[in-house]
Amino acid sequence: SVVRAETGLSLKPIGFIQSCYKEKFGIPRQPGLVTAAQAQLQLLPEFSQVAAFKGLEQFSHLWLIFCFHANPSLAWSNTVRPPRLGGNKRLGVFATRSTFRPNPLGLSVARLEKLEFIGQQACLHLSAVDLLDGTPVFDIKPYLPYADSLPAAQGGFAEQAPSSQWVVNFTEEAHLQCQQKSQQLQTNLELLIRQILEQDPRPSYRAQQEDARIYAMKLYDFDLRWHYKARCIEVLGLV
Ligand code: SAM
Repeated sequence: SVVRAETGLSLKPIGFIQSCYKEKFGIPRQPGLVTAAQAQLQLLPEFSQVAAFKGLEQFSHLWLIFCFHANPSLAWSNTVRPPRLGGNKRLGVFATRSTFRPNPLGLSVARLEKLEFIGQQACLHLSAVDLLDGTPVFDIKPYLPYADSLPAAQGGFAEQAPSSQWVVNFTEEAHLQCQQKSQQLQTNLELLIRQILEQDPRPSYRAQQEDARIYAMKLYDFDLRWHYKARCIEVLGLV
């Protein structure tokens, strides 16, 4: 007999992400590409019982199931144009990790740096994320290397991690600003910025063109500004 799964399940976030990424532009296309990207998952009080996290710290990595809450609409289409293919070839939505899906659910693996309880609230310190600030998280599951790592698996159009074509340089001013801000934020900003820009955040159609623009993205509490110069990326400053 057929069991109909017309559950109409409504999901409730267990917590929200606080991330170094304050806008979508510039976020890598998958986790693990920018290992210096930090985030905290702040659990809501009702999901913050110490008991719920017993054993979690024995895992180095976690799966997060989350909502693409910053999609401009819930509209989806059956085909999408993966940036990885230059943005001009269409594939079926289910053959991609596009954010525009029938249900706007994302799946990312993150490194678990630390579990902390602050008052009534559990906080997971994470790194190597591809998550926007404010992302609602529905579930956490431990990453199981024996089941989740399949080195012989075929990777379709994304067989390898994207290779970086770019050398990233800092102006003297940007270098000094990074040093100052790194101390304030207790992080290695120069490494973070280098890893992000090596991915070249521009839309793929633009990457093939001459480009004299100045680009900016929001990180932490500043705008990062850079431009493309003589086959290098030059970081201009933190504004
Ligand atoms: N690893 C996830 C997956 O496979 O489901 C996300 C992959 S998706 C291609 C990655 C992009 O999602 C990032 O480059 C970022 O621009 C976007 N993104 C991250 N968090 C988001 C959010 N909360 N709402 C909308 N877009 C988001």
